[in-house]
Amino acid sequence: MGMLDRIKERFSEAVYPRRCPLCGAMINSNERICSRCSRDVEFIHRPICRICGRPLYSCTCRKGDYAFVRNVSPLVYTKAAKKGIHRMKFNNSPYSCIYFGKLMANIVRTEYLDSGVHIDCVIGVPMHKDDFMTRGYNQAMLLARTVAEEIEAPLLSKALIKQVRNRPQHTLSFMERQRNVKGVFRVPRSEMIRGKTVLLCDDVTTSGITLNECAITLLDAGARAVYCVTAAVAVMSEMPAIKAAAFGTGW
Ligand SMILES: [Zn+2]
Ligand SMILES: [Zn+2]
Repeated sequence: MGMLDRIKERFSEAVYPRRCPLCGAMINSNERICSRCSRDVEFIHRPICRICGRPLYSCTCRKGDYAFVRNVSPLVYTKAAKKGIHRMKFNNSPYSCIYFGKLMANIVRTEYLDSGVHIDCVIGVPMHKDDFMTRGYNQAMLLARTVAEEIEAPLLSKALIKQVRNRPQHTLSFMERQRNVKGVFRVPRSEMIRGKTVLLCDDVTTSGITLNECAITLLDAGARAVYCVTAAVAVMSEMPAIKAAAFGTGW
């Protein structure tokens, strides 16, 4: 790094102090995340499920459950990752999107590109236009943009749209979630994705139902295959009903 770059970096740090992309605490220029988050953040280790991307101990899926080929995620949706995803969703934190987007691009390289999968285009799970107007940005699209830049594949930001403003998935039961997403997405111009292998990006995989519905819509419109990547996946210990059953607490 040249002298001028170093001066520029010092200047921008003084004006915009670097913050931890997960919790927002101030960090030094040599740190990516703060020390507390680096203790709390949980990366997914092998063995992982080759369908849903969860650690194997937490996978309940079977072949044929999903229309997409695979999902992969770098992080378990616990403590620090949860905090960071919340920041990204509600605090418009561009550096959090870049942090998660780069981790996602890394796992796309090792799990997909290195095993010969060719990605033709990158798509983010869309938001309904009214929700977009309220929030001002779509975090899934921002993640998709970073991933697309990192793996040097084109980003198609208008190829998949959300035409129905449904209820938020996290407020619903498993069965309700499936009904809630049916038919809410649409491909306005199928020639944009016909014959293409799509990489679909989102922030969190919980049930996988939203990713699945997007994949069904893309495949119906002629996509060749859909691969998914999300910043984090929820695991069993984070699902209260399963936890209760396992420990017999009855709540
Ligand atoms: Zn932190
Ligand atoms: Zn699985």
